[in-house]
Amino acid sequence: MQGKLLDSIGFLKEFDPAIAETMEREFIRQKDGLELIASENYASPAVMAAMGSILTNKYAEGIPGDRHYGGCQFVDEMESLCIERAKALFGAECANVQPHSGSQANAAVELAILQPGDTMMGMDPGSGGHMTHGDATNYSGTYYNVVSYGVDPQNGLLDYDRIRDQAKKAQPKLLIAGASAYPRQIDFQIFADIAREVGAVFMVDMAHIAGLVAGGAHMNPVPYADIVTTTTHKTLRGPRGGLILCREEFIDRINDAVFPGIQGGPLEHIVAAKAVCFREAAEDSFKTYTRNVVKNAKVLAEALSDEGFDIVTGGTDNHMVLADLQSFGVSGHGLQNKMDANNITLNGLSLPGSATGGIRVGTPAVTTRGMGEAEMKQIARCIALTARDFPGTTDEVKAIVKSLCEKYPLYG
Ligand code: PLP
Repeated sequence: MQGKLLDSIGFLKEFDPAIAETMEREFIRQKDGLELIASENYASPAVMAAMGSILTNKYAEGIPGDRHYGGCQFVDEMESLCIERAKALFGAECANVQPHSGSQANAAVELAILQPGDTMMGMDPGSGGHMTHGDATNYSGTYYNVVSYGVDPQNGLLDYDRIRDQAKKAQPKLLIAGASAYPRQIDFQIFADIAREVGAVFMVDMAHIAGLVAGGAHMNPVPYADIVTTTTHKTLRGPRGGLILCREEFIDRINDAVFPGIQGGPLEHIVAAKAVCFREAAEDSFKTYTRNVVKNAKVLAEALSDEGFDIVTGGTDNHMVLADLQSFGVSGHGLQNKMDANNITLNGLSLPGSATGGIRVGTPAVTTRGMGEAEMKQIARCIALTARDFPGTTDEVKAIVKSLCEKYPLYG
C-alpha cells in the first residue's frame, strides 16, 4: 500500500466532532474486526488522498477535450491519464472512467445498447447475478424484457448448453455474463460464441473479479466481450466507483449514455483516485496480492469443508467461497448476525435449492492485511464455532479475532 494514512478524523474532530466520532467508531470497527465481505477491501492512503482532494470542486460535464465548462484543462489531463491507465491495465481499446458506481456503469451500457422493451439476458440475481442484470425491483427489470439464466441447482455451476438454448429462444439484444456470487471461473469464450450465434452485444460485468483480472489471477474478459463493466472498489482496491471498457465501435454511444444519459458532472476526485488505483494495480506487488487472494480463498474453502460446511461447487477459483448451511440448521442471515456480534463481517444469502441459504465469504480484505494460509484456517474455525454456537464460543472467537487483528494491523 502506498503512503501513510492522512489523519482526516483528527482534522475533523475540532470542526465537526459529531461526524468525526462516527468516523472514528467505524475506523475502530474496521481495524478491530475481520472483513470477509467478498466485495469489500481497504483502499490505500494514496487512493484516499486523491479522493479527499480539491478536485471535488470542479464541474467537468463531458469528456476530456469536449467539456461543457471552462477551466477544465488540468482535469482533462488527469482524466486522460486515467483513461490511458485503464486501457493499458486491461488491454482495452476504449474506456469511460466516469460512472459513479458499478450500477451506473451497467445502466449506461443498457441505455446505450437497448430500447425500452428490448430483450436482455443476464444471470438471475437469486442465483448470483446482480440486480442491474434484470431484477424485477431494478430499473433493468422495469424497462427491459429480461430473460434470466441460473445455475444448475445440483452442482451450483453455470450450464452453458442450457444458456445457449435459452439465448436461441429469447434472441436477446444484450447478453450479460458476470456475477456477485459465483465462485468459479466464467468461460467468456463460450459466452462470446453464444452472443455471436444469436447476434447479441456481449457484455461482461467483472465487478467482483476486476482486481484478479488486473493481477493476472483470472481470465481477462476484455478480448472476448464487446463491453466490460466493473466497480473499482472490490478486488481492484480503488475508490468506490465504476468503469466501462469497450471496443472502439461502442465508445461514442457509451460516452453519451454516461453523460448526458444518466449522469451530470463527473466526480473528478474519484476519477483521480481511480487513476491512482490503476497505477497500483499495474505493480508487481499487486500481482502477488491477487495470487494470494485466490490461494487464501482455496485454503478457506478447504478449511470450511473440513469444519463440516457444504461448499457450493466444491471449492473456488476466485476470491469468494459460498457455503450452504443446511447441515448447521442456521439461516444465512442468522449466521451473518451472529458473526457480526463476534466482530467478523460476512454476507448471508439465499442459495438455489437450499432451505437455509448460506454465506458468502471473501479473502480480498484479509489478504490486504497480510493474512495467509494459517490465518484462513483460524478464520474457518471461528465461523464453525459461531455457527455451532456452543456456550463460551463467543469469547474464544473474539479472542482469535483480536489476536489476528493485532498481528495484522490495518494501515499498520
Ligand atoms: N455488478 C456486480 C457483479 C456487483 O456485484 C455489484 C455490487 O455489488 C455491482 C455491479 C454494483 O456496484 P455498485 O454497488 O458500485 O453500484
